[in-house]
Amino acid sequence: MASTPFTSKRAKAYADISDDKWNNWRWQLSNRINTVEEFERVLPLTDSERRALSAANLFRVDITPYFISLINPDDPDDPVRKQVVPTDSELVPFTAMMEDSLAEDRHSPVPGLVHRYPDRVLMLVTTQCASYCRYCTRSRIVGDPSATFSRAEFEMQIEYLKHTPQVRDVLLSGGDPLVLAPKILEEILSRLREIPHIEIVRIGSRVPVFLPMRITTELTDMLQKYHPLWMNIHVNHPNEISAELAEACDRLTRAGIPLGNQAVLLAGVNDNVHIQRELVHKLVRIRVRPYYLYQCDLVEGAGHFRTPVAKGIEIMEGLRGHTSGYAVHQYIIDAPGGGGKIPVSPNYLLSMSDHKVVLRNYEGYVTTYEEPTDYLPSRSAQFRGVKRPEPGQSGVFGLLEGEQMFIKPETFDEVHERSGIQHRLKDPKKWVPLGIGSGESPKNDPEEQT
Ligand SMILES: *Cc1c(COP(=O)(O)O)cnc(C)c1O
Repeated sequence: MASTPFTSKRAKAYADISDDKWNNWRWQLSNRINTVEEFERVLPLTDSERRALSAANLFRVDITPYFISLINPDDPDDPVRKQVVPTDSELVPFTAMMEDSLAEDRHSPVPGLVHRYPDRVLMLVTTQCASYCRYCTRSRIVGDPSATFSRAEFEMQIEYLKHTPQVRDVLLSGGDPLVLAPKILEEILSRLREIPHIEIVRIGSRVPVFLPMRITTELTDMLQKYHPLWMNIHVNHPNEISAELAEACDRLTRAGIPLGNQAVLLAGVNDNVHIQRELVHKLVRIRVRPYYLYQCDLVEGAGHFRTPVAKGIEIMEGLRGHTSGYAVHQYIIDAPGGGGKIPVSPNYLLSMSDHKVVLRNYEGYVTTYEEPTDYLPSRSAQFRGVKRPEPGQSGVFGLLEGEQMFIKPETFDEVHERSGIQHRLKDPKKWVPLGIGSGESPKNDPEEQT
């Protein structure tokens, strides 16, 4: 690879470590920092950090020597430091805080397999990571070796997938799949590849960021046997983009793995449009496509990292149009209670009439788009063979497709009965919409006239 414009750093405490050791991922893992004494040798702790490190029930702390070296030891507000060094703010509860804010465990047909969306699943393959993010959305299980998934649970996950043909995309996460023993990771990949309806496998990993030396050619040679394989990494601040990360990403992309980035919007770390622009620009330079920017979840320990949603909208306003489309991620709120990912964005559609829309661009230029008045949509009948069923999850799109006419809260019908009796005016047939869902077809249905 051409010499990279990015730099390498090594904290003073590691000056005497040989390059062989430093570049060995096993050495990095076994020399992770987690006690006050170990921290003090590398960076002086603040009182708040020291208090947090001696608190009972603290979410697991571990930082690789490589990653801690990216921190400026003289800056208590360093954006890398805030992500991995605990402070006593994480012990403070807040309104709406939850242990499992995304209700993942409720959506798990089998332990460790989250089936939230119609055609894809999240498969948690370990609870261990190379280092631990203080705002972890899965801190309820992550970091705890006793919470990890058993062989029997893995077999149940595979069994569920074999019998669930609508799943075409499996997302491996955890914990971090790339800290698994290479043999175990390979077994998971090859077992998934044996299932014919699984089209793509993705890995969500922060190993390239915490432990870039783990991305060896041996690993990428193994991974590329299981294509199509995609990967999302997790970088939040431009300071995390080092020469080592650039090299790790180069190996992964050369192995044919498209890379995306999932960042989390974090107060005091990256809640600023100028930092976000620098982040996405550095990402595309190392051939990583910004994918999602997440609003911070309502998870225990993360209260002090949260920003108003308006901050995210403001950041998106400062990206779209101002820079390459490739560098613009989508801002997402992962809905509390298990509603799934919801994209939020500034509004660009100002108004519309029967054949005209009024739009504004990123500069505030207001324009109209004249729509056709003679448009005939292609008849859906010709696409019937390629429709994928989404039992019970077709949602608002299902309304457009005519599968049903309304979506109503669970208690809607009861409430509107007003506890009245069944009487001559209440014929249930009155509310069956003609031509929608299981209702009868109206005589002029164009699909029936072919
Ligand atoms: C994020 C997530 C996915 C993947 O979502 P995409 O929008 O397809 O990236 C799948 N399952 C669960 C439970 C998730 O949280």
